[in-house]
Amino acid sequence: MKALDELTFDNRFARLGDGFSTHVLPEPLDEPRLVVASTAAMALLDLDPAVAETPVFAELFGGHKLWAEAEPRAMVYSGHQFGGYTPQLGDGRGLLLGEVYNQAGEHWDLHLKGAGMTPYSRMGDGRAVLRSSIREFLASEALHALGIPSSRALCVIGSSTPVWREKQERGAMVLRLAPSHIRFGHFEYFYYTKQPEQQAELAEHVLNLHFPECREQPEPYLAMFREVVERNAEMIAKWQAYGFCHGVMNTDNMSILGITFDFGPFAFLDDFDAHFICNHSDHEGRYSFSNQVPIGQWNLSALAQALTPFISVDALKEALGLYLPLYQAHYLDLMRRRLGLTTAEDDDQQLVERLLKLMQNSGVDYTLFFRRLGDESAALAVTRLRDDFVDLAGFDAWAELYKARVARDGDDSETQRRERMHAVNPLYILRNYLAQNAIAAAESGDYSEVRRLHEVLTKPFEEQAGMEQYAQRPPDWGKHLEISCSS
Ligand code: AMP
Ligand code: MG
Repeated sequence: MKALDELTFDNRFARLGDGFSTHVLPEPLDEPRLVVASTAAMALLDLDPAVAETPVFAELFGGHKLWAEAEPRAMVYSGHQFGGYTPQLGDGRGLLLGEVYNQAGEHWDLHLKGAGMTPYSRMGDGRAVLRSSIREFLASEALHALGIPSSRALCVIGSSTPVWREKQERGAMVLRLAPSHIRFGHFEYFYYTKQPEQQAELAEHVLNLHFPECREQPEPYLAMFREVVERNAEMIAKWQAYGFCHGVMNTDNMSILGITFDFGPFAFLDDFDAHFICNHSDHEGRYSFSNQVPIGQWNLSALAQALTPFISVDALKEALGLYLPLYQAHYLDLMRRRLGLTTAEDDDQQLVERLLKLMQNSGVDYTLFFRRLGDESAALAVTRLRDDFVDLAGFDAWAELYKARVARDGDDSETQRRERMHAVNPLYILRNYLAQNAIAAAESGDYSEVRRLHEVLTKPFEEQAGMEQYAQRPPDWGKHLEISCSS
């Protein structure tokens, strides 16, 4: 276990130089204080969890202090936002403080979001509010606990600094961890600004540090792109299987590592709704829940375009062709497991689709349905769940197919079925209304609810004593919350 001053830095991205990022110091928050910290994320840096409660922790992650070896940099990138190209974006309010390596030899970027203005702030104030920082923190750690690849979050630091959004709020910082903060948009920036040398340098950097196994392949860059395609297919399959809606899948928010990244107006589905749009500025539903699948491919095509200096168009197209079949295979595999099935049959896709249609028509809670399905034998579970459906005949027909399918899958005891299903079907997810409750308390200075919710979400598959209130459908007020897109 390490103390805060024992972190070891190796700032590999900063060494790429000024063409890639700009040196900027964090702008401190007034009266910084710990809102919440993740013990699991601290362990990634070998940090003793007790240090979170020390004043120096809030000072470091509230922008007041810096390690001597930290080299805070704002990264430059660009990207396609809602389908249109924006030539220059970049870290407008976040800073890569440096890269820390742990005892296992893993490198973690320390990225401080809400750290003040940078050359890339455009019209923004460089700040992040408490509300959005808490949401990013909770989502990062909750997705990770569900087994969905994601950037991690070390802590949220609150403050008394006023920040103006629709109304006056308080500034906060969230410390994000990821093996890299390089986005699709980094490659697009050097491609569209016609800087082939820098682009080659970036590609070498990513290949060497993050895809070293691709070096062994006959065409290392192509192997790397294929890997990016595969990781994205798997990540998005998990989003769809667990009902996660990202909300702003612009290419500047897509990590080159295939991890969920840059949380904004995200949401987990309460009632199943394939057409759900969590981002209220997304009037066309470009990033609606079901559109995430084709948008994943669209984003990969945008990255492919930026890689045309290194890889032939035919090879890129072939690699892009892997996305959909891989996505479908991962998705179906997960959905089979969510249904408690251990074997594969041709009609399973249809079984899933029919169920989702019924859930859509009846507004059935997506998370609780699967959890309850595993509570008891298939026959008993469907009898109990039947009441949630409006189209009873439709559900009965599905239930007959499902029971027959379960019977063909093979015999196992009710206990085995429950254990297997509960291990993939969470009881607790980050429902918008739960986040909202925690945020309201935190805004009035009480951080106990954020901390409790975070704790519950770190073990989403385990029933936790006294935590029933976190495993409920939303109350009426919490059903269709308008989450502000400003952050
Ligand atoms: P986002 O939609 O949050 O992914 O952000 C898009 C771009 O706007 C990125 O370049 C951000 O760094 C920048 N940005 C967002 N909010 C702010 C802010 N309050 N101040 C400065 N830049 C911002
Ligand atoms: Mg972003």
